[in-house]
Amino acid sequence: MHRIEANVLIPGRGDPIDDGCVLLDGATITYAGPRAGAPPSEGAEHHQVPVVMPGLWDCHVHLFGIASANLADVLRLQPAVGGARAVKDLEAALNAGFTSVREMGGLGIYLAQVVDEGTVQGPAIYAAGALLSQTGGHGDIHAAPVQWVEDYGARGGCLHLCDGVPECLRGVRRQLRLGARLIKVCGTGGVLSEIGLPTHQQFSDAELQAMVGEAARAERIVAAHCHGKPGIEASVRAGVGTIEHGTHLDEPTAQLMNDHGAILVPTHTITARVLDHGPRLGVPDYALEKMDVIIGLQKRATQIAMAAGVTIALGTDVLSSGPDTVCPWGIHGAELGYLVQSGMTPLQAIEAGTANGPLTLGPQGPKSGQLLQGYDADVIAVAENPVDDITVLAEPAKVTKVWRAGRLVKGAP
Ligand SMILES: [Zn+2]
Repeated sequence: MHRIEANVLIPGRGDPIDDGCVLLDGATITYAGPRAGAPPSEGAEHHQVPVVMPGLWDCHVHLFGIASANLADVLRLQPAVGGARAVKDLEAALNAGFTSVREMGGLGIYLAQVVDEGTVQGPAIYAAGALLSQTGGHGDIHAAPVQWVEDYGARGGCLHLCDGVPECLRGVRRQLRLGARLIKVCGTGGVLSEIGLPTHQQFSDAELQAMVGEAARAERIVAAHCHGKPGIEASVRAGVGTIEHGTHLDEPTAQLMNDHGAILVPTHTITARVLDHGPRLGVPDYALEKMDVIIGLQKRATQIAMAAGVTIALGTDVLSSGPDTVCPWGIHGAELGYLVQSGMTPLQAIEAGTANGPLTLGPQGPKSGQLLQGYDADVIAVAENPVDDITVLAEPAKVTKVWRAGRLVKGAP
């Protein structure tokens, strides 16, 4: 049992409370509120901290286990090598105060098992399995023979090509068979893929509807990678739960998202990282050219979504292993700063990175991301108040304690 007393308690949703107290019993929060109202906690481990808040959620990450800036490298990666790197990635996330991740295609489907059984320390992983892509789409490796990519997917790799409704249904069922908690589809072209423009819709309306329907029967939502408007609109009309990136979003598209209850997960971190570090780290020229267009639009898209009242959840698209790589695990907290630069208040950015996280999993969403009785005991202590300066959450050193499922995994006395 842990008793955490704090000068400031940030609940995740709602206003901060001065002189707060959080009690953890096992993997559950049993009290969160004013210290004055806290029940006695005989024998609890006592902690006095400046700020207590829910563990953070990153709703768009990839555990690829690659150190390079080229997704084609997944094809020649030995799974054990990728898995070992991913273990370090998970440690980096916890160290940064991120206690839950929605893994959008990669090794997360396998790593979730070893985290859940306690073999590896890491954030709770809610994984999609493989990215579902049409042949030649964002989830294809265009420079490789297509048979290689198909074979890689069939062996449980993180890319799965499917064309036509029956193959799309099988694609979804393959991920459900592995224990996917959501389904990830590529609804438009992408930046880090060689062929195809981010503005082009991928998958037909019928294919999208089939995948959403199949996922819904298993109480899963579909998350759609989308930059361009036609793809966003087709995906939202098909009923996807979240739009990832959402670069070309405008007012009518935002309204459509609102009408359908779709959530936006903008990913400013990867855009900034690719432009700042991509040339030095070998990001291919085709990707740099496409990213140049996107950076100007992304902040605007977030602003339009906010004005329309679209729910926004924090996502970074971290995808590489090792500190000096293109978009490495451990830098998740930078996204809060980008959200504030896009017009959110610090408290809104914190809500996007805590309470809104579980919403991106639809019916699979856990009771997490808020300091509330009965919620998961994923909690962090911060050295300074992020409501005054959001950038403190971008510095892992200022996240002084981390509890994951009620266990103190960082900052033991
Ligand atoms: Zn991604």
